[in-house]
Amino acid sequence: MITALYPIHEVFTSIQGEGAFLGEAQVFVRLDGCPLRCSWCDTPGTWKLPAEGASMEGDDHLLEKAWNSAEEIAAGIEALDPDGSRTVSVTGGEPLMWPHLLPELRQLLPDRRLHLETAGAFPGSLKQVLESVDHISADHKLPEDLRPPVALRGELEFEPAPVDASDWRSARREVLALIADRDACAKLVVAGGRSTADFDEILQDHASLAPGLPLYVQPATAIRDVPAPDSQAIFELADRASALGLSTRVVPQLHVQLGLR
Ligand code: SF4
Repeated sequence: MITALYPIHEVFTSIQGEGAFLGEAQVFVRLDGCPLRCSWCDTPGTWKLPAEGASMEGDDHLLEKAWNSAEEIAAGIEALDPDGSRTVSVTGGEPLMWPHLLPELRQLLPDRRLHLETAGAFPGSLKQVLESVDHISADHKLPEDLRPPVALRGELEFEPAPVDASDWRSARREVLALIADRDACAKLVVAGGRSTADFDEILQDHASLAPGLPLYVQPATAIRDVPAPDSQAIFELADRASALGLSTRVVPQLHVQLGLR
């Protein structure tokens, strides 16, 4: 089903703090709605959908309504960056809950670079947007880092979220096959208490299905009851990934370091 309105958490300008475009000034479109529950999630305020007809919370938002058409979102992007020089990163929440938005934005903003930041859990929805984006950043999720998914409310139809390790394995392999030969990268968040062995299946899948896909290892920022990893664990993981032939970079969250959103 085509959803004409999309739940916008915020549209804002900042510095890209993660992945292949680290440090680039961008426009961010952050969507609401995510059924996943990563233990180290730093945007839990995006998990739930706003009520139908709701206004934006707070008083510093570019858009007035929580639900907006693609045209309204595109107008917000143009207002923030009138000369069109900035890449637009569509993030969340999980933006692939709304796979029709990117093709719509592609039509409305044909000359903009459009990037997608996704959890890498929804290959069916990813297929729908592949030709609409210039770059994809997909996470590798460790099932042990996730609590059970929570269905988004309402009558909208969403691609089911992975529930267990087997689902995650299938989703990961499908996503890797889809993005292997595209302008894309994978991000692996590493929380404290994890060892290189915990990630071995993920690294093996990455190396066999998408050997040319860059890997960004991101030490988790300590949050709630999740500690940051120690540097030795990060070093060993990066070393293992490199030994498998992966182009690997360790990149802390730059926007957090700079105190930006
Ligand atoms: S997929 Fe993203 S928004 Fe959803 S819980 Fe994980 S980190 Fe948070």
